[in-house]
Parts: sequence; C-alpha cells; structure tokens
Amino acid sequence: MAQNDAVGQLAALIMDSRDTVVFTGAGVSTESGLPDFRSPGGIWEEFDPREMTYQKFINSRTHRQKYWRFYLQLWEEFGSAEPNSAHESIARLQRLGHVSVVITQNVDGLHQRAGSPGDRVLRIHGHMWSVHCIDCRHTYDHRYARDQLKQSGTAVPLCGSCGGILKPCTIAFGEQLPEDVFAQAQKHCTTCDLIISVGSSLTVYPAALLPQLAQSTGAKHAIINRDPTEMDPTADLVIHGLAGEVLKCLLQQVNRCESDSNSQ
Ligand SMILES: [Zn+2]
Repeated sequence: MAQNDAVGQLAALIMDSRDTVVFTGAGVSTESGLPDFRSPGGIWEEFDPREMTYQKFINSRTHRQKYWRFYLQLWEEFGSAEPNSAHESIARLQRLGHVSVVITQNVDGLHQRAGSPGDRVLRIHGHMWSVHCIDCRHTYDHRYARDQLKQSGTAVPLCGSCGGILKPCTIAFGEQLPEDVFAQAQKHCTTCDLIISVGSSLTVYPAALLPQLAQSTGAKHAIINRDPTEMDPTADLVIHGLAGEVLKCLLQQVNRCESDSNSQ
C-alpha cells in the first residue's frame, strides 16, 4: 500500500475514534538528533548496559560513581535536543482533541516541550531531568546533582535534606516500573478504541504489553516505525517510515478531514 493511502486510512481511523492513545518509543526522538546509544562510538561503547542495573546502583558506591558519570554525559548530549515534527504533530493532535493521552518509553521530556500537556503524558520509564532521594523521596532538578558532581568534584551526590542516596528519576535496568504511572497507562489502554505505536520496536517489556492489552480489549492497533516490528503481522495498520515525516503528513490529513466535515 502506498504510504499516503495508509496515512489517509490512519487519519480516517482517528476521525472515527472516540479515544485514541499514542504509545511512543525512541524512534520519535531520533530526528531530534539524539545519539543512538548502540551505534559505533555511542554511549554503550563506554558504559556497559549490563553494569547499569538498579541492584548495582543501590549496592555499590563504585557503581553509583560510574552511573553518575554516565548521566553527566547523557545530560550533556541530550541538553541541546529540540522537539521535532513527531513530537509537535502529536502535541497538536492532543490539543485538537484527537489524542487523549501519550504513553512514552522516552525519558527525554520532549513531548512536554513540544506542548503536550504534562498531565496527559505518561512517562512509564521515568524522566531524566529530575533526581530523587531513595531514602526520603525528596525530588530535585537534575542540576542539583549535576552541580555537586561538577563543582565540588563529588563522585556521588547526596540529598540535602537527609544525606541519603540520590538517583535519577529514570527507571534503571532491573528496577520496577512506577506502579501508579503504569496502572494509569494500562487503564487508558483498556478504554481506548485506537492505539498508535510510534517509533517503538515493541520489544521492551512490560511496556510492549500495552498495545497488546489495548488490542485484546477491542482497540485497533496502528504501527508507525522505520523498521518492521514483531507486532506488524497482528496490527490493523502498519506504516514504515520516519516518525516525524509520517506524523506531519498524518496531521495534515486529519486537518483536511476536519475541514471537509466542517464544510458539509
Ligand atoms: Zn533524602
């Protein structure tokens, strides 16, 4: 099917839908110039993901030092990223009332920066621009930890209220997903009638269970991704392409459908 036809079909599904949820992965942010961790020279060449687990972070000061060095680099590399047309189109669809909620696996905060309302973005893997104390749960802006690491040369930043261990507000490997946020995401998936997965390989669990949950409770599943995914065969509609380009085109088609229905 030509891509334009498929995008037109998706626009029609959105117009017919009573409640559409968008589920996003790393592919929506690649057009913002974010580094690909896995590519040659990427951050995983310097830091071994198997070492960056929650258990090691909690149990070993040496690992916490390494983890914070990793985060200093992440904050540096992600600091200059701007939302792209994928984030902007999704935010626009939300403001037009066509998308109820965005469930994202991304920790970069670009959906909100593009204008998606904060209370309608569920960040199931947390977010990288805050840190919290694992003892008293006090939350700080990431600069609180960054300044301690940079200015005083501290290897491991500490909580100003209780002296406890600080940790970025992202979900580390081996760490449980935030129950309340994940429960909200599940609830939206059982009540929506259309879920659009964008830029996700749909292989990271339990996140990838969400589109399956939506489909099992009667929702249609549309996939927009550069590469084929394991869920392509069971999806109702599949569009292979870059998230920014496809969503920009989708927004235009939805706008066209709206003006057509208004002029009738
Ligand atoms: Zn504390």
